Amino acid sequence: MKNKLILGCFITALTIGFFVVAAAKDKKDKKGSVMSDKVVKTDAEWKKILNPEQYEVLREKGTERPFTGKYYKSKEKGKYVCAACGLELFLSDGKFDSGCGWPSFSQPADPKHVASREDNSFGMHRVEVYCPRCGGHLGHVFEDGPAPTGLRYCINSASLKFIPDEAKKK
Ligand code: FE
Repeated sequence: MKNKLILGCFITALTIGFFVVAAAKDKKDKKGSVMSDKVVKTDAEWKKILNPEQYEVLREKGTERPFTGKYYKSKEKGKYVCAACGLELFLSDGKFDSGCGWPSFSQPADPKHVASREDNSFGMHRVEVYCPRCGGHLGHVFEDGPAPTGLRYCINSASLKFIPDEAKKK
């Protein structure tokens, strides 16, 4: 009887222990997610961080004039991060020359790093893409890109900051 009681207590303790460990792991996983650290700032705070062109594009959904952005012709190897919050958005490997006058990518660096939503402004039906961490406007995505994705992410240079590959910097 005593042995059974001890065994019962032991099994109960093991079960509780299992749930405590599982809960701790779950919490850790959530904390490790990139999207858990959203960047939220007031317009005044963004104005201090961004230059006027970046502010107009990222925070007011502006569009830079075609063929004027600093990255539309760039073929350097590296990554493009959000100019507002630094989230990795696109890689140079996904960049292609679409001839449209804006930096064009066939895919994001990570599907979770580029969010999209419908945009019916200016009498057009388009799909806007934005940074899911800071909410900054990036550009639009169209379905006339190269294989295998068939997508063309048409992005404003002003929304991006280029970081060259380590090997290139040396
Ligand atoms: Fe961002």
